[in-house]
Amino acid sequence: MGYPALIINTAKIRNNTKLLVDKCKKHNIDVAGVSKVFCAMPEAAKAMVEGGAYMLADSRIENGKKLKDIAVPKLMLRIPMLSQVSDIVEYFDVSLNSEYETIKALSEKAVEKGKQHKIILMVDLGDLREGVWHEDAVDFAGSILQFKGIKLLGIGVNLTCYGGVIPTNVNLNQLVSIAEQIEKKYNIKLEVISGGNSSSLHLLDKNQMPERINQLRLGESIVLGFETAYGERIEGTHRDAFTFAAQIIELKSKPSVPVGEIGMDAFGQKPVFEDRGTIKRAILGAGRQDIRVEGIVPRDGNISILGASSDHLIVDLTDCQKEYKVGDIIEFDVTYGGLLSAATSDYVEKVIV
Ligand SMILES: *Cc1c(COP(=O)(O)O)cnc(C)c1O
Repeated sequence: MGYPALIINTAKIRNNTKLLVDKCKKHNIDVAGVSKVFCAMPEAAKAMVEGGAYMLADSRIENGKKLKDIAVPKLMLRIPMLSQVSDIVEYFDVSLNSEYETIKALSEKAVEKGKQHKIILMVDLGDLREGVWHEDAVDFAGSILQFKGIKLLGIGVNLTCYGGVIPTNVNLNQLVSIAEQIEKKYNIKLEVISGGNSSSLHLLDKNQMPERINQLRLGESIVLGFETAYGERIEGTHRDAFTFAAQIIELKSKPSVPVGEIGMDAFGQKPVFEDRGTIKRAILGAGRQDIRVEGIVPRDGNISILGASSDHLIVDLTDCQKEYKVGDIIEFDVTYGGLLSAATSDYVEKVIV
């Protein structure tokens, strides 16, 4: 096995998915498993489907291609670029949308390919990322019903992504109300009301999820076991489905403060140091080209991260009970940002267990 490595435990992903799917099922909510943070590695995506995700959702065409052979519908999460419409219709059954021109182009492309592409109209309830402004949503929905190549599957919202707005009974009921106005005005039925991402889960336990919300798009809660409105752990989920592992390449006792005049580090920052005398320093064969260093946490709680450059990660082993030596592997938990960086880096070996 090569290092640094991202170790992916598919059984834990499957278990986490199942726990959340069962929780959601009690409220008649289907779970779309979001694969973007692990770059849609098919083994991990498959584990989501085995755990009960009825759909796989991703933000990248490249990832949609990787998911091609997994037999569930695919949902494009990011509002499509006009330059992508052909691939969207090819690799995704459903996409989230908010722009008339793009929906028109998707319709034309779908007709050309003899397909029908489904869309979920995104409504902005105030988080200020994607979506038609809530006051305009009913009229906007009416304007796209004419298109032959698309079907308006439903409406949806994304919260806690840009503005940090927390999903509540109030704003999600507002979404349901918009859906019902659309249904009434145009005499149609909306199959899906998509109530957001992992930040909406807290409403389930509080019994505050509006009844007609019937889909959630879950990423972080499945892969790391956190709800994301308040950052709480979800009871019964595994925190360690993903592990970042790096190997010790040098281990020496050295001062805690550099010797000489201090200029800038490799990233243009002027570092500051606390003098703790001589400490046991290890260099790991990993760096910022592999991992977002702020996004990893040593599993050995006595290890602290001192810093990193492109290829070197320096840790303090002074307080460790364990006698580490050169060649040993240090394991880390990952945050969402840490996982995203490790999954994305070509230099990190991906190991499925
Ligand atoms: C990434 C994303 C999700 C998943 O968010 P998590 O917080 O990881 O659950 C859901 N919806 C959209 C539109 C996204 O971009």
